[in-house]
Amino acid sequence: MPHSRHGGPRDVLIAALAAVEAAGAPVEARSPVIESAPLGPSRRRYANGVAVVHWAGDPPGLLALLQQVEHDFGRIRRGARWGARTLDLDIVLWEGGCWSDDALTIPHREFRTRDFVLGPARAVAPRWRDPLTGLCVQHLHTRLTRRRRAPR
Ligand code: ATP
Ligand code: MG
Ligand code: MG
Repeated sequence: MPHSRHGGPRDVLIAALAAVEAAGAPVEARSPVIESAPLGPSRRRYANGVAVVHWAGDPPGLLALLQQVEHDFGRIRRGARWGARTLDLDIVLWEGGCWSDDALTIPHREFRTRDFVLGPARAVAPRWRDPLTGLCVQHLHTRLTRRRRAPR
């Protein structure tokens, strides 16, 4: 949903990535922003993108940074209650391979089934390998879109 200061979803995403960088995770590559249909029954549209960021610390430290940016950008005050989320920043893959604790799972559990993740990911890291399946991002994307187009 639009953000009072940053504008529509595309502008929120661009501004959020600048905030991630300013918070200490330099952006090494960024995909084009892709607008896609929502997953649910809502008629809202979403903007999605994938970035490669440099992070010298551990994955929970990066998650904390992303959640701080989500908090700063992602929620607007509506009366006394927090309104709907405007921003979701997830960790999809990590150079270190797998990570699993109560708060964080890498690779992201759903990324192999999400065109809105694999499409932009292909633009910045087509050869990045998923440590669980052994398949690269390009291959995962082809597999997903081929499956979806297959006749029933
Ligand atoms: P989805 O997982 O389907 O993308 P979501 O991103 O909308 O859902 P959130 O409400 O943003 O879900 O996050 C819920 C919790 O997911 C976070 O508090 C975080 O602890 C946890 N989490 C687990 N793995 C990850 C990950 N790889 N990236 C970001 N958050 C993660
Ligand atoms: Mg998510
Ligand atoms: Mg999330």
